[in-house]
Amino acid sequence: MRNIDHFIVGGPASPTGRTHKVWNPSTGEVQAEVPLGDAALLDRAVAKAKEVQPGWAVTNPQKRARVFFKYKELIEANMQELAELLSSEHGKVVDDAKGDVQRGLEVIEYCAGLPQFSKGEYTQGAGTGIDVYSMRQPLGIGAGITPFNFPAMIPMWMFGMAIAAGNAFILKPSERDPSVPVRLAELFVEAGAPEGLLQVVHGDKEMVDAILDHEDIAGVSFVGSSDIAHYVYKRGVAAGKRVQAMGGAKNHGIVMPDADLDQVVNDLAGAAFGSAGERCMALPVVVPVGEDTAERLREKLIPAINALRVGVSNDPDAHYGPVVTPEHKARIEQWIDTAEKEGAEVVVDGRGFSLQGHEEGFFVGPTLLDRVTTDMESYKEEIFGPVLQIVRAKDFEHAVKLPSDHQYGNGVAIFTRNGHAAREFAQRVNVGMVGINVPIPVPVSYHTFGGWKRSAFGDTNQYGTEGFKFWTKVKTVTQRWPDGGGDGSNAFVIPTMG
Ligand code: NAD
Repeated sequence: MRNIDHFIVGGPASPTGRTHKVWNPSTGEVQAEVPLGDAALLDRAVAKAKEVQPGWAVTNPQKRARVFFKYKELIEANMQELAELLSSEHGKVVDDAKGDVQRGLEVIEYCAGLPQFSKGEYTQGAGTGIDVYSMRQPLGIGAGITPFNFPAMIPMWMFGMAIAAGNAFILKPSERDPSVPVRLAELFVEAGAPEGLLQVVHGDKEMVDAILDHEDIAGVSFVGSSDIAHYVYKRGVAAGKRVQAMGGAKNHGIVMPDADLDQVVNDLAGAAFGSAGERCMALPVVVPVGEDTAERLREKLIPAINALRVGVSNDPDAHYGPVVTPEHKARIEQWIDTAEKEGAEVVVDGRGFSLQGHEEGFFVGPTLLDRVTTDMESYKEEIFGPVLQIVRAKDFEHAVKLPSDHQYGNGVAIFTRNGHAAREFAQRVNVGMVGINVPIPVPVSYHTFGGWKRSAFGDTNQYGTEGFKFWTKVKTVTQRWPDGGGDGSNAFVIPTMG
C-alpha cells in the first residue's frame, strides 16, 4: 500500500494515527493511504513558512518570475506523468486530466508576468512638492483548501497567485486525490523556489479548522461545496482573516429556438457528462425555450447520450470515467431516485451501470431527466454526476429567470444565433460567468474566476488582477521633501489639495 506523505520541511510528520483511503475509482480498489494531520503539524509548516517568506518577498520580481518560467517548463515536461497520476485517483480520463493541469499552468504563466502586474501606482505632484505612491505588499502566509474535482488546476490558481504576490503558502488539498498536489509542490522546489515556500498538509475538518484558527495565517482561499464554503468563510473572517470561499453550482444552458442544435448537442454532451459531471462549471441543466425547441432537442440528445462511451480512466476512447468514490456513486443514484419520485421523466437511466471487467469500479451511466421543475429538490440541489436535466422554458423571460432565481450562480450559457438576445441575456442574468455559444465559460487566466450567490462567499475572485489583490494589501505613501522654507499652510487644519 502506497503512503502519500505531507510535504513539509523538516522530515516526516509524526503520525496522528488517522488516515484516509485513496481509491482507484476505475477498479474500486484502495490504492493508497493519506495521513490526516493536526494543529501540531500545521504549526511546524507555519513556522517554516514564516522563516522563508520575508526573503521571498524582497527577492526582486524578475528573479521570482524566473522560478515560474522554470516551473512551467517542468510541468510541461512532466505533463503525462501528472495526468496519469491525477486520472488514477480522480477517475477523469487522461486527456481531461491534462486539461486540468493545463488550465492551472495557464495561471502559472500569468504569474510569470508578475513584474508587470506588481508595479503599483504613482502620482507626481499630488500637492505642492507632494508625491503619492502605492504598493501592494504580501499578506504573509496564505493557505488554500481545495476540492477533489480539479486537484491540479485549483491548487495552482491559489498558490501561483499567492506566491507570485510574495506570500508563503500552505495547501490542504482534498484527501480523496492528494498525490498530484504533492507532486506539484515537489516540482516547485525543483524550479528553484526556496524550501518551505510551498508546503502541503493533508487532512480533513480538523486540519481545516486549525488553518482557520491559526493566528499566523492571514488569508485563506477555499473551493468546495457551498455549506462548507460558508462555514469556512464565517470562521475565517471571525478569526480576522481575509477569506474567499467558492461553493457549489448548478449551471444552466439556455437553448434558443434559433440555435444550431447539432452544435448544442455536441457541446452539451461534453459539458454535462465530461469528467462524469464532476465539474463546477459543468452544464447539468438544459433549458430549451419553447415546446418545439424542447422536442427537437430531446430527439437529438437521446441518441447522442446513448452513444457515450463510459470507460476506465486510462481508456483513450472513453468519453468519461468513474466517479470519485463509492459514496459519491450511491449519492448520484439516490438523486436520480429522488428526481423520479418527484415526477421527473427518466428518459435515459444510468443507475445500476456496470462496466464489464470492472464491475467494482464507481461508474454511473449517463442519465437524462426531462420535465424537471423548479419545485423539485433534484433541481434545487447540486447532483455533481453524469446527469442532465431538461427544464422547459416557455419564453426568453422565463429562461432568464430560471438561472437568475437559482440558489447557485456560478456559470450559465446561452446558445443562439441572435446577438441581441445573447447580449440582453448576458446583461440581465444573475450569474457570475456567462458563455455565449460557449458551454463551459471558465475565464482565461488574465481575466478572473468567480460565481455569485451561494457559489461564492467573499468579494474577490480567483486569479487575474482580482487574485493578485486578494493576496496583497495596499500601502499608500504620501511624501514631501521640504526645502526648509515651509509653504505657509496652517498645520492645525486637515491638509486639502484645494
Ligand atoms: P468538499 O466541500 O467536500 O471539500 C472541499 C474541501 O473541504 C476539501 O479539502 C475537504 O477536505 C474539506 N472539507 C470537507 N469536509 C469539511 C468540513 N466538514 N469542514 C471543513 N472542511 C471540510 O468538496 P468536494 O466534494 O471535494 O468538491 C466538490 C464541490 O466543490 C462541488 O460542490 C463543486 O461544485 C465545488 N467546486 C466549486 C468550484 C468553484 O469554483 N465554485 C470549483 C470546483 C469545485
